[in-house]
Amino acid sequence: MKIKTLTLDGFKSFADKTVIEFQPGLTGIVGPNGSGKSNITEAIRWVIGEQSAKNLRGDKMPDVIFAGSEIRAGLNRAEVELVLDNSDKYLDYPHEQINIKRRIFKDGESEFYLNNKKIRLKDIVELFMDTGLGRESFSIISQGRVEAIFNSKPEERRKLIEEVAGVLKYKKEKKKAQSELDSTTDHLNRVADIVFELE
Ligand code: ATP
Repeated sequence: MKIKTLTLDGFKSFADKTVIEFQPGLTGIVGPNGSGKSNITEAIRWVIGEQSAKNLRGDKMPDVIFAGSEIRAGLNRAEVELVLDNSDKYLDYPHEQINIKRRIFKDGESEFYLNNKKIRLKDIVELFMDTGLGRESFSIISQGRVEAIFNSKPEERRKLIEEVAGVLKYKKEKKKAQSELDSTTDHLNRVADIVFELE
């Protein structure tokens, strides 16, 4: 799987629609301090479902919308689109190209689209779960993150290792199966009580 393009429109310092094309090989993004390099990696993290405004250096999610500058008024919405080449079927999705789009409005409501079809955040999270691109992954390491990982609690570090090892999906399925088992056991107990009363 490869990133083909990233389009930022009204996201943080990118007030105008900006398309970044990723060519084969290594891509380096260079620029002076404060020119928006970190905003680009944050846009990738945001479009694939980041839920913490703090992780995007904001207080609340609408802070990702272009807030205005001395010469320009702020905007009412931000949009990021990520186009992935999935011809190796790295992501469990039956298309060679995957377009993921996220939009946010001032009221904080986010919309997600997968190949132009409206989907839920849950669908995005599931698509990337255990792929190494999930929320807790090492794929995107921002400034200060290395230190934070070293200083994190053992349980938090374990979560990271589980994401990388790809066991999170199975843990989630186990939890679901356990809750179904518990509810079936409750039903069986009720049936046993009724049978006991009838005998
Ligand atoms: P450095 O090299 O210092 O790490 P950088 O190139 O990574 O810098 P960023 O941190 O990505 O730069 O960008 C910071 C800039 O983005 C600041 O000028 C800040 O004002 C601007 N910015 C962040 N959020 C918004 C927003 N919502 N609206 C407008 N501008 C924003």
